Amino acid sequence: MPQSSAPAGAVASSNPAASQVEPPPDAEGGRTAERVSRPLPSGSIEVIAGSMFSGKTEELIRRVKRAVFARQRIQAFKPRIDDRYDKTRIVSHSAATEGNGKTIEAVAVATSESLEQRVDDETQIVAIDEAQFFDRGIVDVAQRLADRGIRVIVAGLDQDYLGRPFYPMPELMAVAEQVTKVRAVCTVCGAEASRSQRLISDAGTVLVGGSESYEARCRSCFEPREIVR
Ligand code: ADP
Ligand code: MG
Ligand code: ZN
Repeated sequence: MPQSSAPAGAVASSNPAASQVEPPPDAEGGRTAERVSRPLPSGSIEVIAGSMFSGKTEELIRRVKRAVFARQRIQAFKPRIDDRYDKTRIVSHSAATEGNGKTIEAVAVATSESLEQRVDDETQIVAIDEAQFFDRGIVDVAQRLADRGIRVIVAGLDQDYLGRPFYPMPELMAVAEQVTKVRAVCTVCGAEASRSQRLISDAGTVLVGGSESYEARCRSCFEPREIVR
């Protein structure tokens, strides 16, 4: 160990010879301090994950609305799961009962590639809802946007109707700086719910649906199968 050859108690500041070599030579003419003080673009990925009705979209909208107050430049996206509209809105389940304060403008895109192409140079925040419906490329897209200095806020289901990890959410959660798990209320027992129970009236019912097709359940009340009503 080279350090062990130094005499005990040899402190750099008490040794004039050492003090000349202690601060590392600044190869760039004193720009080190300037570089530290200048704010760097701080891109990051935030994930909001949970079951259906857990308030993921509400939380996404809350964060976006705060950013609007801060005069940030924001773009919001959702997957295009049908071809009817290009421009649409992100809407929480509570919007119907509590008014339209729980919605924001969003652009529906078919692929992660299309999302990335639509992000403007001056955008500071990219919000993405229903991320579980995107292709796996959304992980690299989120990473590239964050590397560019953009704050990427992603909401999505962490589990499918059988309680399995819902890709690409697990990968997004792994590379995120911050993960928030939100929970609903179990429709059966009132406990905290982390799972989405699929309820179908007959085989072949569409997978994308709301309270007619799914309900929130806790671990004990959840049954990893379709329950035919
Ligand atoms: P998510 O995006 O996670 O599906 P939303 O943000 O769209 O959730 O909706 C959350 C809202 O859903 C709650 O504020 C509440 O008004 C409503 N809701 C309906 N059923 C439940 C439930 N079982 N547990 C909690 N909230 C529920
Ligand atoms: Mg939602
Ligand atoms: Zn329960």
